[in-house]
Amino acid sequence: PRKNLTTSNHLRHVESMAHLPSGAGRITRLNALILGDALASEEDDLVFPSEVLSTQAHVSSPQKYLEMYQRSVHDPSGFWSDIASEFYWREKWGQQVYHENFDVRKGKIKIEWFKGGMTNICYNCLDRNIESGKGDKTAIYWEGNEPGLDSSMTYNQLLARVCQLANYLKDVGVHKGDAVVIYLPMLMELPIAMLACARIGAIHSVVFAGFSAESLAQRIIDCRPKVVITCNAVRRGSKIIYLKEIVDSALLESAQKGIVTDVCLTYENESAMKKEMTKWTKGRDIWWQDVILKYPVTCDVEWVDAEDPLFLLYTSGSTGKPKGVLHTTGGYMVYTATTFKYAFDYKPTDIYWCTADCGWITGHSYVTYGPLLNGATVVVFEGAPNYPDVGRCWDIVDKYKVSIFYTAPTLVRSLMREGDEHVSRYSRKSLRVLGSVGEPINPSAWRWFFNVIGDARCPISDTWWQTETGGFMITPLPGAWPQKPGSATFPFFGVQPVIVDEKGVEIEGECSGYLCVKSSWPGAFRTLHGDHERYETTYFSAFPGYYFSGDGCSRDKDGYYWLTGRVDDVINVSGHRIGTAEVESALVSHPQCAEAAVVGVEHEVKGQGIYAFVTIVEGVPYSDDLRKSLVMVVRNQIGAFAAPDKIHWAPGLPKTRSGKIMRRILRKIASRQLDELGDTSTLADPTVVDQLIALADC
Ligand code: ATP
Ligand code: MG
Repeated sequence: PRKNLTTSNHLRHVESMAHLPSGAGRITRLNALILGDALASEEDDLVFPSEVLSTQAHVSSPQKYLEMYQRSVHDPSGFWSDIASEFYWREKWGQQVYHENFDVRKGKIKIEWFKGGMTNICYNCLDRNIESGKGDKTAIYWEGNEPGLDSSMTYNQLLARVCQLANYLKDVGVHKGDAVVIYLPMLMELPIAMLACARIGAIHSVVFAGFSAESLAQRIIDCRPKVVITCNAVRRGSKIIYLKEIVDSALLESAQKGIVTDVCLTYENESAMKKEMTKWTKGRDIWWQDVILKYPVTCDVEWVDAEDPLFLLYTSGSTGKPKGVLHTTGGYMVYTATTFKYAFDYKPTDIYWCTADCGWITGHSYVTYGPLLNGATVVVFEGAPNYPDVGRCWDIVDKYKVSIFYTAPTLVRSLMREGDEHVSRYSRKSLRVLGSVGEPINPSAWRWFFNVIGDARCPISDTWWQTETGGFMITPLPGAWPQKPGSATFPFFGVQPVIVDEKGVEIEGECSGYLCVKSSWPGAFRTLHGDHERYETTYFSAFPGYYFSGDGCSRDKDGYYWLTGRVDDVINVSGHRIGTAEVESALVSHPQCAEAAVVGVEHEVKGQGIYAFVTIVEGVPYSDDLRKSLVMVVRNQIGAFAAPDKIHWAPGLPKTRSGKIMRRILRKIASRQLDELGDTSTLADPTVVDQLIALADC
């Protein structure tokens, strides 16, 4: 629903926004719209936050945002050290708040924030919040796979559990700087294990507990952990996954390559599998429940330098072999806490639920660290969003009175496909702010999320960021800006995005090109594990002087940023550069299209042609007419030049385990290079590929 622009009184205080640095775009026209000096047209498609939400928000107007943004980029040292001072530092950082070399031509790429400062992120998440009176506040609500199976934990209780595990880890010889691999499902023990490592200065490497033994072994070999932490099994939906068996084979494989892990600490996840049924290697395997409770519930903190490593995490592998991203302590702490607070407009009364698994960066920064640093109450969900039925998410929202709900477009689209009735039978009254991450969210999915899930009441924070960036980079601040469905809006404080052309030249104003960042921010990754050279060539060499994100992006006349997908997904049809995201959005707006993935294929005349994989809504039959009307939708919304040359029916799409479409594989199928499909080990369901190949000529 559109609001009368001139009634947004709180936005009237805006003075001039024309002085924004060019990186944030020109927003004078937007300014005029907000002030009521210009009339918004249908095409502007602005969605305003409610006045109540806006006036109570941390950042309540574009003007306030601008003041803070300006300071953050003109005086990064002052801006970030003020925020960092809200945390506990055993020793303050040195004279220089940050140090960076962002330019490969000037030597080694190096980023440091708060160097010399001594702190501990676990202390800041738990002890600090307890000291300020939040000890009895619920830290985690845990919801099991089976409805009715749940538990919760206060900050005091969480600290006690973390300390017991930390003491155990020390006892078995884990020291500061040692690696620990965590292969756990979404049990409370997962954040507990992360925090326990952080407490003693150990480096955690969480591996998503859906990865194969082979992928797990690769990661074990890469970081050589002293301890692997897992559980015997987990229920996800109606399936049981025997995690311990996967770990057994991974440990066997890595031992054959000479990497021996001393301890495999195994949690008995009773709801899925009894102890007695679990295969056991004496001497190496230890039951969590047998040992941990014997340890003291307090544990001294290991104070670490801000630049000491906190964790290692692999990217989701959408574009190829996963990269081992390394994050350090101080900057990451300050950055995740701050982005969480502002992008979700977090208030102490909020109940927050992020559906991501801790096996991904989203689960690191926005299930564990960001929320706990803010003393928030977090919902951790073990199960699948469609079990026992597709209303499960809203059941959980109502049960815990969730006010901030953060998820991925893939989930939004899959629920949209099931129909509104599964949503509307729940209240969802507690919801206040929604969030999206992982892929561009198509405007039609955005609207459904906004109108149906959020009852047209909750702003959507469409957060663009990456494993590499540690935290949000381009994101709405609910309350500050009118939103545009499908746009991630504006840069977060301290982030200077630039759009460059093929030659690496910055383009101003309304444009599209390659999304880069001009200088460092506290949450930036510092290297790729064991391969600083790959770090420099992958991210800093394509456009010297900039961090290159790998994503394509455009900026509209009001300065809003629109992510258009990976740059290698930009298709050049007869000289028109078309983002795959654009064509996909048009397809998905067709009422019978549930999901679409578009890739480029060689085309004799046009250079590249558009090849679309399309999943249709449950129960609708494939037909030639449907094919034609899908093509029509694209012609009408974008233009004839963007009309797909081929529609390939896709009962399912190849996705990474984090839910992203793997276009690399689709490109090979589209060009029928079937023997070159490459590494499919990070696919959630490899059988989808055979299905697609079988349907290639239908
Ligand atoms: P790999 O780098 O191994 O190919 P990946 O890029 O999928 O894996 P992540 O770091 O989990 O691994 O994902 C970051 C990417 O996800 C971004 O570069 C971008 O392409 C996409 N992305 C994340 N959030 C958004 C968003 N809000 N809008 C558009 N794209 C997004
Ligand atoms: Mg990536």
